[in-house]
Amino acid sequence: MADKHLIFSKKQIEKIIETYPTPFHIYDEKAIRANARYFKNAFSWNEGFKEYYAIKAAPNPYLMKILREEGFGIDCSSTAELELAKRVGMSGNEIMLTSNDTPASEFQMAKNLGAIINLDDILHIEYLEKNVGLPDTVCLRYNPGDLKKGNLIIGHPEEAKYGFTHGQIIEGYQMLKEKGVKHFGIHTMVASNELDPDYFIETAEILFKLIIEITEKTGIHIEFANLGGGIGIPYKPGQKAVDMEYVSIGIQKLYNKMIAGNGLAPLKLFFESGRAITGPYGYLVTKVRHIKKTYKQFAGMDACMANLMRPAIYGAYHHITVLGKENEPHTEKYDVTGSLCENNDKFAINRMLPVLEPDDIIVIHDTGAHGYAMGFNYNGKLKSAELLLRENGEVSQIRRAETIDDYFATLDFDLLKDFPV
Ligand SMILES: *Cc1c(COP(=O)(O)O)cnc(C)c1O
Repeated sequence: MADKHLIFSKKQIEKIIETYPTPFHIYDEKAIRANARYFKNAFSWNEGFKEYYAIKAAPNPYLMKILREEGFGIDCSSTAELELAKRVGMSGNEIMLTSNDTPASEFQMAKNLGAIINLDDILHIEYLEKNVGLPDTVCLRYNPGDLKKGNLIIGHPEEAKYGFTHGQIIEGYQMLKEKGVKHFGIHTMVASNELDPDYFIETAEILFKLIIEITEKTGIHIEFANLGGGIGIPYKPGQKAVDMEYVSIGIQKLYNKMIAGNGLAPLKLFFESGRAITGPYGYLVTKVRHIKKTYKQFAGMDACMANLMRPAIYGAYHHITVLGKENEPHTEKYDVTGSLCENNDKFAINRMLPVLEPDDIIVIHDTGAHGYAMGFNYNGKLKSAELLLRENGEVSQIRRAETIDDYFATLDFDLLKDFPV
């Protein structure tokens, strides 16, 4: 069961706020490292197992440096993310590019870095060959269509824009083989924020079955299978985290039977999880600015959806703790809002909380993935700082807050003076 206890006391946070004003996201290095090891150890039976951290979940090079030290690779799905990987010092098979609707320049950059390129469409084989040249290793992204039941967020696979159909993927490997590609991988990702551990075992089974078929039909050897991301986290109290040891044992049984049993070993297993790696270990810290009572009670924060979009976009639940009032009765019903001029700028709706007052410190849980990352500048709202609670208890700023000058950096006001209207 997910407990929603905090890693810091009110006193500690007050001390941090003296140096770094709210709002900010703060990440817990110790917990991230422990979780990374848990993930890796669960699959220690599989030689070559690798988790490629989906950097879009928290595109901060300091976090990536820590995860890299724990043996993780990086999963990129844009040019900027490849650039981040490069600036962290990553290259070769530490990087996987899983993008879609990909421009040639992005393929070029991936190839220059020696990254593993994961193709999203059969026409991209020729596109890649023509514009960049085919690398020695190519991975193809499989979309099982109606062979796999949908997950709530990604929806039915056949409606999703990603990946090759079953027929296309067999043809794709045949083409790659004829064009002289030497090493092959396969990828699929059909879920997002999925908490059912059996879902990932079923996904492995679908891929293993397909690998058997591909080998029979094309004669190639698939060297790695990337099971994607999409592992959920318990945002709500009472939900249960995905037991990766259980997932691993389930997959290992299938591996022994289907892969090793058919002479297809070794097959390296990869994941490209974001949420499950850092999600629970980040917190958005904000202060109550105003309390407003009209037809409802509103608690206005100094953070807004620019800092955390998930509740506004998906109606996602994020747990809220009021520092110093953890044990007070939750007698009041609030909409917890930001200041953005959109009525969906709310972190919570009808949430029972203790009586709130201006300057109360509010902690919004589970912002370590798809939190800071998704933010935007609509309405001139600025993105917050990111802090890291180090293992030794010290706090490092790993990204400063945006300023008004950052916001206006792409405009030239000097030219405005003489601009004829
Ligand atoms: C977003 C994404 C991920 C990570 O998803 P999580 O839910 O954070 O695990 C992995 N792979 C691809 C291709 C993605 O687009």
